[in-house]
Amino acid sequence: MWPYHPELLARPVPRYTSYPTAAEFGAHVGAAEQELALSRVSGDVSLYVHIPFCEEICWYCGCNTGRANKVQRLASYLDVLHHEIALLGARLPQGARVRRIAFGGGSPNAITPFDFVRIVDALTVHFPLHDPVVSIELDPRTLGADWGAVIRCVGITRASMGVQTFAPHLQAAIGRVQPEDDILRGTDLLRGAGITSLNFDLMYGLPGQTDEDLADSLGRTARLGADRIALFGYAHVPHLIPRQKRIDASDLPGQEARFRMAWNGWEQLTQAGYQPVGFDHFARPGDALAQATVAGRLRRNFQGFTEDQAPVLLGLGASSISQFPDLLVQNEKNAGRYRMLLSQDRLTGTHGVHRSAEDQEIGTIIKSLLCRGSAEIGADRMFALVEVLTPFAARGLIETSDAVLTIRPEGLPYTRTIAALFDPYRQDSARRFSSAV
Ligand code: SF4
Repeated sequence: MWPYHPELLARPVPRYTSYPTAAEFGAHVGAAEQELALSRVSGDVSLYVHIPFCEEICWYCGCNTGRANKVQRLASYLDVLHHEIALLGARLPQGARVRRIAFGGGSPNAITPFDFVRIVDALTVHFPLHDPVVSIELDPRTLGADWGAVIRCVGITRASMGVQTFAPHLQAAIGRVQPEDDILRGTDLLRGAGITSLNFDLMYGLPGQTDEDLADSLGRTARLGADRIALFGYAHVPHLIPRQKRIDASDLPGQEARFRMAWNGWEQLTQAGYQPVGFDHFARPGDALAQATVAGRLRRNFQGFTEDQAPVLLGLGASSISQFPDLLVQNEKNAGRYRMLLSQDRLTGTHGVHRSAEDQEIGTIIKSLLCRGSAEIGADRMFALVEVLTPFAARGLIETSDAVLTIRPEGLPYTRTIAALFDPYRQDSARRFSSAV
């Protein structure tokens, strides 16, 4: 078991899928900055396409998504998404090459396979695709057989299913009732369609969840042959995500129980042969994510840990975030305003943040700590932070030498907390972020 030091985990910290984090985004960055950044793009580019619809809304979900029950609303979203694809594609300079496409949401399979293929066609027409690796997030509850043919035709090789837990009583507690048959059927369908890297999202820290419940879900996942597993701690933040108010908070595991569950998960999955990836992902040794980890090529972006090396990620769809070396810019979140902007032929970036040289330097340190467990921080920075680093060093969680900070194996669950020490924006984060475990 990792050593438990609750006093070091008391402060809520970001997940650092970017630096600066989305909490630093402001309206001073918008379409003009997005346009300028786009005009400078060259080399490898990744695309993220956001489909903000789901058949059913899970009570815990923090994604920007809504119910796919209104045909007209869905159709008009897809219309403007096509328009955005054309607008963005036309602005991409020659020399840019799209090497990856990720479809996320929401649940991309909340739209029809026909509408999905139309989006793929539009990307093919408007973007310079260079044999891209294509991935998709899927809801196994609504994964019809027709999706198998589409996935094979499009050449999608990576898929991620939201599973969270196999335990029916926990599924009821979080508003995501998902019979195990759906997961088995989805797994078979995806393997048959040519998916070679299959991820399961799972959670610990659910209301009423026991260690045995978690072990059971992890065991079933491993037996089903998941290539990747993302094991997240459930973050109960109803003041930020109102739909979580439906979850009974009286039965949530406390911090110590969450800490133990994170350890149990780590131990069970590593013993089952999975390579730990960062602080909350696991991958089979043959999977590209595991190989990137071992080779020191692991990176982090808005989708979590990734082996994607492209310096630019372009977001398409309401609320999606584009990432440039010196800029982060988020599309309008509100679907109505997103539609309105596109109806005026305008790019939809409305919030974001410039990444100063200092931000980029700190971002490199944070990414390195999260992805590799060590970072070159320089003698000056080491000296400036000696006071806040001392409690971690004194407990044997980190070691420092030659201006390099290394998180020891015992310090893994403290990774985000240690990274946050380098983040000057994190002075008052008590309500905006989740527990560090
Ligand atoms: S299916 Fe996924 S994206 Fe949709 S509400 Fe549930 S957790 Fe959120």
